[in-house]
Amino acid sequence: MLTTEVENFPGFPEPIMGPELMKKMRDQAERYGAEIVDSNVTAVNYTNKPVEITTDDDKKYYSKSVIIATGADTKWLQIPGEQEHIGRGVSSCAPCDAAFYRNKKVVVIGGGDSAMEEALVLTKFASQVYIIHRRDEFKASDVMQKKVFENEKITVIWNTEPLSIEGEMKVEKIKLSSEFKTQNSKLQLKTNNENKEVSPEDIDGTTVTSENGKSIWEFPTDGVFVAIGHIPNSMLFEGIEKDEKGFIKQFEHSKTNIDGIFVSGDVHDSTYMQAVTAAGYGCQAALDVEKYLEMQS
Ligand code: NDP
Repeated sequence: MLTTEVENFPGFPEPIMGPELMKKMRDQAERYGAEIVDSNVTAVNYTNKPVEITTDDDKKYYSKSVIIATGADTKWLQIPGEQEHIGRGVSSCAPCDAAFYRNKKVVVIGGGDSAMEEALVLTKFASQVYIIHRRDEFKASDVMQKKVFENEKITVIWNTEPLSIEGEMKVEKIKLSSEFKTQNSKLQLKTNNENKEVSPEDIDGTTVTSENGKSIWEFPTDGVFVAIGHIPNSMLFEGIEKDEKGFIKQFEHSKTNIDGIFVSGDVHDSTYMQAVTAAGYGCQAALDVEKYLEMQS
């Protein structure tokens, strides 16, 4: 689990560390008789009942019903310095980590609703938020874009891709590649609803090279928030209906298209993606399974 402090889980007035929250959930489930098996599932065969589940230690488990709750992984940039700095300036969760960036300067990478939301959350703490996007328009909804463009703490840098994240103990700077779309070799920015053209130096950056309509430059920052989407962990489940991004579809509450197979949490939810919403979906699925098993007996 990548989350450090969880600040929005009901019942915890003080932030709780992600792993500690998980341990508490585990203890609670075991107290009520749940047996937890720590293995990786390699195959699920639901063509016959009971469903057959195979794990990587070649054991087989049989069940009348299954709740798929395999979650979603953050899509990372896969650039040098990124994985090494997770928890030390690189994050994918502003609601979890924004408070660490009080009065600091941060960048958000992405151009969808997640990036807009991350940036807006960060403005509550950070002094300056830069959204760095690889194209010159966002794919985010109009309403989210409007909020971003109107927020005076947020500046958008267009046509720019991250190359590496650098820093000794923690993130200190990000190396970027920007395409110049005009003759005057300037970066394209949008801030306070106004378009601007500046050089990297105008915003405290340092040009490394600049040629053929492209600039490689370094930008000092205290944090990098990666918001380029999520990858649902649904590959294993052939025959289960998914949307075009692989999120498992729900039919009538938490049911999937296959009888007896239910789904909960981030493997089906591409919108909220919070521990509290995932826990709520888990509760729904458990109640649906209880009803399903009653109907079978
Ligand atoms: P999206 O797939 O919508 O957006 C991902 C963004 O990241 C795109 O702008 C994309 O660029 C960019 N990107 C992807 N890969 C890279 C890369 N390797 N390097 C640089 N940039 C990259 O994902 P989101 O997580 O933003 O949203 C997922 C879904 O969740 C959407 O349906 C969204 O509406 C929903 N959502 C809704 C929210 C809300 O309503 N409050 C909040 C959060 C999410 P490009 O545009 O060039 O493809």
